[in-house]
Amino acid sequence: MKDKKPKREYLTIEGLLPDDKITWKKISCTCSQDPNNITKIYPFAACLHCHAKESEDSLPRVPFDIVQNVHGKLGKTITRHITKIKIEKRDRRTQEILGYSFSS
Ligand SMILES: [Zn+2]
Repeated sequence: MKDKKPKREYLTIEGLLPDDKITWKKISCTCSQDPNNITKIYPFAACLHCHAKESEDSLPRVPFDIVQNVHGKLGKTITRHITKIKIEKRDRRTQEILGYSFSS
């Protein structure tokens, strides 16, 4: 008898760039490597690399649900299952991800 594996769902991410086109990945981390010196470490320190990495790490990686209000019907909501996101806005200098949109 065959075991049925649960079907794995993937999140489609549009607008990804290859690493060599992403400037922040070429900018070295300027944080202090001394863990006792936290004011010299991001987010205290203005480190472009860590700031942009935080933005990239905050991008969803798996499908997710959102609850939305139904327009014109007070208190009524619907749940949408999101399986595709699109990176809409990047920083012009560093290509840090600044915003994304989604569709189901
Ligand atoms: Zn850093």
